[in-house]
Amino acid sequence: RSAKKNLNHYEIYSEEMKTASHKNFDLLCEIPRAIEKKEFYILYHPKIDLYSGKVEGVEALIRWDHPERGAVSPDDFIPHIEQTAMIGKVTEWVLKTALMDLKKMQLQGMDLRVSVNIPLNLLQNPKLTKTIKEYNKKILPLDKLEFEILERGSVDDFKNTAIVMESLKSMGIQFSLDDFGTGNSTLTCVQNLPLDIIKIDRTFVKDIETNRKNKELVRSCINIGRALDKKIVAEGVESEEVIKILKDMGCDCAQGYYFTKPLTYNKFLNWYKTYTDLR
Ligand code: C2E
Ligand code: MG
Ligand code: MG
Ligand code: MG
Repeated sequence: RSAKKNLNHYEIYSEEMKTASHKNFDLLCEIPRAIEKKEFYILYHPKIDLYSGKVEGVEALIRWDHPERGAVSPDDFIPHIEQTAMIGKVTEWVLKTALMDLKKMQLQGMDLRVSVNIPLNLLQNPKLTKTIKEYNKKILPLDKLEFEILERGSVDDFKNTAIVMESLKSMGIQFSLDDFGTGNSTLTCVQNLPLDIIKIDRTFVKDIETNRKNKELVRSCINIGRALDKKIVAEGVESEEVIKILKDMGCDCAQGYYFTKPLTYNKFLNWYKTYTDLR
């Protein structure tokens, strides 16, 4: 009887698995259409310099307005396409769109940097690096571009990745390590890659005004960054108290709902004007 029960469990489980892999398969097929039909769009999330209080840049965050499923969160499709060629297509789309928007912002006299998220292993894709070099010539010089790299799996070739990063850095591109403190090789990344910036993960930052453990972890991240001459950005700042603590600890930059949620291009422009006028 219990064997039968287990068997049923197994069957249910395998049905779920089938649906899950079926869903991912659909997602993969749907991406070219989504790009063509303009179902993707970008939200911009500002980064604030904690010393000057100025907006120093924006992070481009992808959104998918799916015809049947509605809003699909990047956490629900990016990890599934990361191991496939589709991540290259999506990253190119985000990069191109963000650079064109940055160019428009520059024409309005806004001096900002823009960052684009990229999985670490995609840096080993020669097609993407070729495209980046083309954008540098055709769209605008990339000295205001930052890549936020995320390491989810294991990295097999730090040496080659570091070489690619150095060649991109010669165009003025900067690199930050996203979600610092999570992932299984963050310190190995800091050890082996030519990073400019460290972004402390939201899960550590969000409650440092009440959580002593997280406060000390954030302090340690900031100390590592400072000792190695990296700029430090804290993500997930939701209150003024957290800002004050981060400032006292020597954090350079902050990003979070305290300032604003991520905004569409037009809403960001309005927010930026109001924010700048109020200062
Ligand atoms: P991330 O790069 O670490 O981005 C930060 C995430 O935290 C964003 O979620 C942002 O909306 C959210 N966030 C920022 N401040 C706060 C806060 O104060 N409170 C709360 N509750 N949340 C905050 P989002 O946009 O859902 O993105 C999730 C993740 O998806 C990103 O994490 C990134 O890893 C990935 N992602 C988003 N866009 C892209 C993209 O264009 N390409 C790639 N490869 N990944 C992307
Ligand atoms: Mg990011
Ligand atoms: Mg992050
Ligand atoms: Mg994240």
